[in-house]
Amino acid sequence: MIEADVDACEAYGECVAAAPGLFAINDENFVEVLDASPPEDQKAAAERAVWACPVHALSLSQD
Ligand code: SF4
Repeated sequence: MIEADVDACEAYGECVAAAPGLFAINDENFVEVLDASPPEDQKAAAERAVWACPVHALSLSQD
């Protein structure tokens, strides 16, 4: 399960670059999680996105 802290997000877009199928930047310049429960073949990309976020706004837990 991916969770995003939009209060912490500063719209760097690193998560979108790491996993474009899972994240987007919305019109209000906050991260939007497109798929909070990524399929198995997207889990590695989700982990890369969590690590890539410079303000640690993303977290990934088992669901
Ligand atoms: S990498 Fe972090 S700060 Fe940048 S858009 Fe994604 S969640 Fe927001």
